[in-house]
Amino acid sequence: MDSVYSVYIHVPFCRTRCFYCDFNTFAGKDYLIPDYVNALCSEITRQKPYADVPVHSVYFGGGTPSRLSIADVTRIMETVRGTFRLTLDAEITFECNPCDVTAEYARGLADLGINRVSLGMQSAVPEELKRMGRRHTLEQTAEAIETLRSAGIRNINVDLIYGYPGQNMESWERSVRTAIELCVQHVSLYALSVEEGSALRKQLEMGRLTLPEEDVTVSMYELAARMLSDHGFRHYEISNWAVDEAYESRHNKQYWFVQPYYGFGAGAHGWINDRRIRNEGSIEAYIRKVNTSGERFPAAAENIPQDSHIEMQDVMMLGLRMLHEGITEQRFRERFGEEMRDVFCRELRHLERKNLVRWTPGGRLQLAPDKVMVANQAFIEFVD
Ligand code: SF4
Repeated sequence: MDSVYSVYIHVPFCRTRCFYCDFNTFAGKDYLIPDYVNALCSEITRQKPYADVPVHSVYFGGGTPSRLSIADVTRIMETVRGTFRLTLDAEITFECNPCDVTAEYARGLADLGINRVSLGMQSAVPEELKRMGRRHTLEQTAEAIETLRSAGIRNINVDLIYGYPGQNMESWERSVRTAIELCVQHVSLYALSVEEGSALRKQLEMGRLTLPEEDVTVSMYELAARMLSDHGFRHYEISNWAVDEAYESRHNKQYWFVQPYYGFGAGAHGWINDRRIRNEGSIEAYIRKVNTSGERFPAAAENIPQDSHIEMQDVMMLGLRMLHEGITEQRFRERFGEEMRDVFCRELRHLERKNLVRWTPGGRLQLAPDKVMVANQAFIEFVD
């Protein structure tokens, strides 16, 4: 059977830099957007001779894709459609900063077939948004959702961050409740991780801010899980909830099921024909490489064959993130021609002994429901 593919497009431009951010994104470089869009279209077109494959999801991530004009997004979408065979029901997601969503922009996205938008809401509390260095307000998030719906985009995700300095159970409860009241279809929760080089790290080192205690962060996650489930959301992946199976992120499931995907743009990762590809991270180096190389993957800083044992480990680790689907013995056998219990005999014994996993009828392995907060203890079994 043919594999179904996904396409990721990275847009590494942001107007300002949020204090916690360590993504591959840059502020003050918008003057490079025209050259970047040219390079992106050239990189995508390079796949045409090999790309007669069905693509069932496209994801514009960043950075801030909504820094692009509708004319730029149109060019990119036309290039994607001209290169790949998009399925009729393809999920096409676009990440937006809430303050960029005007009625005209939302209509432009909808006209291009973009049918899912992910908004970086992060919090419903004004002081927290300021402390994160976000430039939008809660009101702008609410307006963006209304505007997108009026334009016909009805599949909307919001991201929320927990464990941020100054957050407490009360303010977190307010953020989760507000997200629920906004009637979105999908919620993603991100535990704050303080990364080297971020402005937040410096603020913490200088003692200007302090992180909530770890047990408070755990309680925040548990509270959100309870509230979302009480309001009918299905907890389908460790950090993700959807109102219905139909609204689970098809694109992210592609990663968790370890299925092939193209990654275009600066710093993007792809997994194609059993090779792992990682592009140059800097915008300038990316543009230069695309413009000067005749290779199929012109901007690759890394292009290495995937080791099949590592692929098996990924299937186990990422599969356990999927709380319902998990990993079935049959799928593992069909994919690798080997038995999961033979390949990972020792690891499975450890997991079973620590009650970190459970087997359900039909040979399905899942993370134990009460072990979601310590899932890393399970994942570590599949890391050499
Ligand atoms: S908008 Fe997103 S990508 Fe840009 S700086 Fe903020 S967190 Fe990072």
